[in-house]
Amino acid sequence: MNSTLDLKEVVINGRKLEAPIFVSGPCSAETEEQVLETGRQIAKMGIPIYRAGIWKPRTRPGNFEGLGVVALPWLQKLKEETGLIIATEVANSYHIKQALDYGVDILWIGARTTANPFAVQELADYLGGKDVPVFVKNPVNPDIDLWVGALERMNKAGLKKLMAIHRGFSHFGNSPYRNKPQWDIPIELKRRFPELPIIVDPSHICGRRDLLAGVCQKAADLDFDGLFIESHIDPDKALSDKAQQVTPKDLDKLLSSLIWRKPDIGSNGLLHDLEVYRAKIDMLDDEVLRIYKDRMNVVEKIGEFKKKNNFTILQTTRWSEILDERKELGKKLGLSEDFVTTILKAVHQESINTQTRIMNEDTTSGESR
Ligand code: PEP
Ligand code: MN
Repeated sequence: MNSTLDLKEVVINGRKLEAPIFVSGPCSAETEEQVLETGRQIAKMGIPIYRAGIWKPRTRPGNFEGLGVVALPWLQKLKEETGLIIATEVANSYHIKQALDYGVDILWIGARTTANPFAVQELADYLGGKDVPVFVKNPVNPDIDLWVGALERMNKAGLKKLMAIHRGFSHFGNSPYRNKPQWDIPIELKRRFPELPIIVDPSHICGRRDLLAGVCQKAADLDFDGLFIESHIDPDKALSDKAQQVTPKDLDKLLSSLIWRKPDIGSNGLLHDLEVYRAKIDMLDDEVLRIYKDRMNVVEKIGEFKKKNNFTILQTTRWSEILDERKELGKKLGLSEDFVTTILKAVHQESINTQTRIMNEDTTSGESR
């Protein structure tokens, strides 16, 4: 289904947001001092928008769920003192009413809410006719249509100051990321809606501080429109998401180290298409290598089993079976026999090396073989 979004520039309190757009502040508002002090430092750095969670969607009950309305006057005070534009997450009409009553400027829809069209529609119905900027995070699952659907629901309700936030996707298997970036999805969103600003939330993608700089630079290199990043005056004591938050000082260093190049996309957007393909290749190579790593872990288990039970490493019938079966599968998939054989031989050799290492390890344990 084709769609276009009817968008207006995001102008807030007379200020037009220009890329790169930076948003920062704590995962959650915790105390008046934490809200104000983090905000003052963020404002000093020239960051125009302050984020803070008031109502926190937590996976398990009993985790810190945000302070709710009591924290809203602190945001209002910060706004009056510093002129910062204030953003918070809303998930129901009560949140919206309270946030707007306390002068919150931008509402964002969290990843769990975007995944639920009933909830999004309810928010859109409530927001209809209001001139509020809304930032829509991607859904937790890697489904671009759910993301687009949420933006469309807002837009159909008359909201035109929209922006998207890429915060990565839930995934199975191992990954250094809390939420895998799967860059091809936000790039495809950008291709479909060139007028829609898309910023990247490295904090929820990474889940840990040491990965932030790489993801921020990647966001800049892929020509996204800014960053939405968590900061806290004392991250190690944060009540939520402490591993991924940084002090405003460290954030300043991080942002100064980034290079925002001028995009050279030409008028036909060909480079964007190429970027979509490249992002897919990056993601697939990443997955292939991680799958090989999982395979090697199994190989190690086999090595330990063979050692314990006194089996030889190489069992030629098994190896021939593997080769024949995989070549057959490769043929069905349209991969050349040469290619499949080369990969299999390399993988097999690595497996033999691993098992040989295991056989030779710890030979002094006294076990008789
Ligand atoms: C947040 O920004 O603090 C948050 C809860 O994010 P997400 O909806 O991306 O998990
Ligand atoms: Mn958070």
